[in-house]
Amino acid sequence: MQNVDLVIQNIEWLITVDPERRVMRDAAIAVLGGKIVAVGKSAEIAREYSAARAVDAGGTVATPGFIDCHLHSSFQLSRGLADEANAQAFLFERMYPYEAALEGADVRLSATLAAAELLKHGVTCFIDPGNYHPEASVEGIMATGIRAIVSRSSFDLTKSVLGILPERMIETTQVALERAEEVLEKYANTGNPRLGASASFRGLNNASDELILGLGKLAKRYNTLLQTHACFSYSTHDSSVARTKLAEIERLESLGVIDERMLIVHSGWLEPEEVAILAKRKPSLVCAPSSSLHNGYGNILVGKLPELLALGVNVTVGSDHASSGIVDMPQEIRLACCGYKEARINPRVMPSEIGLEMATINGAKAALMADRIGSIEVGKDADIVLFDTQRPEWQPLFNPVSNLVYSATGDSVRDVFVAGEQVVSGGRLVKIDETTLYSEIPTAVARFGKHLKLDQMIQLRWPVS
Ligand SMILES: [Zn+2]
Repeated sequence: MQNVDLVIQNIEWLITVDPERRVMRDAAIAVLGGKIVAVGKSAEIAREYSAARAVDAGGTVATPGFIDCHLHSSFQLSRGLADEANAQAFLFERMYPYEAALEGADVRLSATLAAAELLKHGVTCFIDPGNYHPEASVEGIMATGIRAIVSRSSFDLTKSVLGILPERMIETTQVALERAEEVLEKYANTGNPRLGASASFRGLNNASDELILGLGKLAKRYNTLLQTHACFSYSTHDSSVARTKLAEIERLESLGVIDERMLIVHSGWLEPEEVAILAKRKPSLVCAPSSSLHNGYGNILVGKLPELLALGVNVTVGSDHASSGIVDMPQEIRLACCGYKEARINPRVMPSEIGLEMATINGAKAALMADRIGSIEVGKDADIVLFDTQRPEWQPLFNPVSNLVYSATGDSVRDVFVAGEQVVSGGRLVKIDETTLYSEIPTAVARFGKHLKLDQMIQLRWPVS
């Protein structure tokens, strides 16, 4: 008998997403020092391993922890402030003013709330495109036990065809690069396996070539990601062509920054030449369906992600932000799989297994962590989610991937483990007190709300008495 820290036993269905894509019945996982040391039948694991702690996972489906490749943790307090807005209004009338109004304390609270919602819906790692208070983000995120790759995002062009940035967000190229480097220096190699850092510019239309090239160099030097939003609406595409005579991906290609360490969010509005560039350079792409559907960007209608997947490009999924409603990976996967089926009028497009790969192993590749997370296999970190199947949406249970993608939501997450540490138990967070967390929100909203035209942002169209 080998002594281990934890055995999760009697798992009704275990979806490993390992290289053979094995799905096991009546399975168990043994964990030692945060890593998976054995995966097998419950009886076999019980014979070979003696556990300091055993978790009975009867009546559950186990999956690898999900990886949300794009979530603005500082936008978590903006839910309901950006409804029925096109790209221009969304950015320049709602989200940028909101972001400029935040102080560090608001960002910390927002980040904790974001990480809480992610964990409770089965996400064990996420990539944050960044904000102006990265230290506060790190503090808020790390309190929950989740893994995260943080950034300090930057803009250095104050004006685009779409609008003018708030004064608080404007900085020179040099300052933006210096601050990005400070964050990389501080968080890229901390020795904390749950924390990483990346280089990030928020979008092409507010970034100079010098900024993009400078951040590209930093990403290389720190061996990390270079992330940006691109091609998310016709307006961003059109304003790029108007200003530079190049579509967004063409411009990145002309700068020589696209490679497998680049993470491009949305990638919806692509010209044929841009599809060819992505297929050749193989960056990771993020499908963010709820964000496009909420604001009507057309990414699924005109998007080429199923074709890019077939061309060998790594496509992941991201919930983007609370301002488009859900922060729930099972729902995001369903929107991606079903949205493309509907847009193509073809049920064979984007089967459920592709959706689950996007949220697990593909996400791990995008985060440059495929050797550590993204699947349940020996040697990887024990990032594991247990879904409670004793609920209507999980019954009957013929095919757990089908139920997960087409029927369930993150609400059915029972337990979550990050590196073998339980961070969600019975649907509640373990490391922070949820009641206290929610009680802090009204004060923060009142504080930053003073700087916003909330009556114009909140679309309360029915009388309230
Ligand atoms: Zn975004």
